[in-house]
Amino acid sequence: TDLSHIRNFSIIAHIDHGKSTLADRLIQRTGGLTDREMSAQVLDNMDIEKERGITIKAQTVRLDYVAKNGETYELNLMDTPGHVDFAYEVSRSLAACEGALLVVDAAQGVEAQTLANVYQSIEHDHEIVPVINKIDLPAAEPEKVKAEIEEVIGLDASEAVLASAKAGIGIDDILEAVVAKIPAPKGDREAPLEAMLVDSWYDPYLGVVILVRVVNGVIKKGQNIKFMIGGTEHLIDRVGCFRPKIEQLGELGPGEIGFITAQIKDISQTRVGDTITTVKNPAKEPLPGFKEVQPVVFCGLFPVDANDFEKLRESISKLRLNDASFSFEMETSAALGFGFRCGFLGLLHLEIIQERLSREYDLDLITTAPSVVYEIHMNDGTVRHLHNPADMPDANHIDYIEEPWIEAVIYCPDEYLGSILKLCQDRRGIQKNLTYVGGRAQVTYELPLNEVVFDFYDRLKSISRGYASFDYHQIGAREGDLVKMSILVNNEPVDALSMIVHRGTAESRGRGMCERLKDLIPRHLFKIPIQAAIGGKVIARETIAAMRKDVTAKCYGGDITRKKKLLEKQKEGKKRMREYGSVQIPQEAFIAALRMG
Ligand code: GDP
Ligand code: MG
Repeated sequence: TDLSHIRNFSIIAHIDHGKSTLADRLIQRTGGLTDREMSAQVLDNMDIEKERGITIKAQTVRLDYVAKNGETYELNLMDTPGHVDFAYEVSRSLAACEGALLVVDAAQGVEAQTLANVYQSIEHDHEIVPVINKIDLPAAEPEKVKAEIEEVIGLDASEAVLASAKAGIGIDDILEAVVAKIPAPKGDREAPLEAMLVDSWYDPYLGVVILVRVVNGVIKKGQNIKFMIGGTEHLIDRVGCFRPKIEQLGELGPGEIGFITAQIKDISQTRVGDTITTVKNPAKEPLPGFKEVQPVVFCGLFPVDANDFEKLRESISKLRLNDASFSFEMETSAALGFGFRCGFLGLLHLEIIQERLSREYDLDLITTAPSVVYEIHMNDGTVRHLHNPADMPDANHIDYIEEPWIEAVIYCPDEYLGSILKLCQDRRGIQKNLTYVGGRAQVTYELPLNEVVFDFYDRLKSISRGYASFDYHQIGAREGDLVKMSILVNNEPVDALSMIVHRGTAESRGRGMCERLKDLIPRHLFKIPIQAAIGGKVIARETIAAMRKDVTAKCYGGDITRKKKLLEKQKEGKKRMREYGSVQIPQEAFIAALRMG
């Protein structure tokens, strides 16, 4: 296709504003799928994505659109991940496009995630076409939302397209706006190949599939290519695009987006943001913007049943085939036995992996307290990177500890501001900025990452009834007064629950933890003390009273089948318990105990 007839764009939207629904509509309208094939939400192809309503992996589809001027255009629509944990992937997807549709819910208006993505889009010099979606809703206020887009984002919204992705209103107007407003890509067919690696995933039939955006030159089947940053060389065996079904093509020219395969087995060779060139006539230097993604949140994953260790190893290895940003290494714990120390991009990423392991691979797991990476500066001048509280060196040998900080932008209706400020303050936040725009507040805070990774996002959602939005980026490490807090159950330390905390919040953290564990651990035949301690000093304690009577005795007359059922149920429950000395701790306790009050 000649460059003037190509349009590359993405859709930016706050979660639930209708991005996936609109994408499906555009595919349907341009004939990529028959109505029968239009199963719900084509672009969100994983169960978890569907359930959570978020997109995790970027996907792209090519649409052929015959415009009102009679010409046929190649539209490449890129779906981008919708969560702060995946910000780098979003940035690479945006870099592959010249423009974006900004979808805003006509009843909800502009939200923080929208803002963060719009600013990123503007940084990539995108032409932004505002689309006001859900105009079919009785609560829709398109004029108000237009004004908001102009006031808050500073975009001209006078020509915003009014649409309903659900009802199929305004779809042609959107396609026409894409052709008219989004610039065609630029590129030189004769120049050495430069293609950006936008995304990659493992397909059991095709091997590693790589999504590329060709910037200059041509990529074809049979070419020997080289990853300029990764350094490996490969022979291309397939070139194509998704409609969304796979279609093989002879080549991809400048400005085009599509996929290649090259018999690559290991996804860690394909780094998002790398530049692909040819071995024969290589480009001089890689395209700008590459960044190494590093896991920021670590935790241990242990099987509840020690016999499941091999199964866990296999399952984790399989998941890793498709997700290079997730890391794992074997870990042994005195109390939990063999497991894995895993690294994630954020807490959502952690939850997704954990959920997939239990759902797709049927594993009962214990998750230890999530931890960020601390820089421990030792007295002898060496620096240790610590991401497991169990490895904390003796306090006498530590000079000082640094922890990662973030800058967070929260956007919320006025009425919730007070409780949000309090939450940030409680989490050691430093307020940087506070502005009001049309009944909403936008507040910027610097926060220690470790105060955010646990349950900050959940708390924020619940105190604002879902109206607050949150976006963050890392701003480097700062010194902090940090200590390791241990939890002792029946006088035995439970290593899975030990965590690194700020000294100032240790006591309340410890108290909350003991109180929750008291409710979560069932009574035993003996009294169980629960303590939180720093070094040898106990800072909080609770006691679980001993059980008085036989539980089964009170429930039954003589119904033998009911009794059998109950015993079976207890057996099942036992499998999900972890024994600490003589105390049984249910699986849920490990995660629930970490949620802060
Ligand atoms: P995403 O998170 O931005 O991908 O949003 P989805 O496309 O998954 O849509 C979120 C919810 O809004 C779903 O329940 C959709 O059915 C609904 N939705 C999307 N577009 C419209 C629309 O134009 N009108 C109405 N009433 N609902 C819509
Ligand atoms: Mg979606």
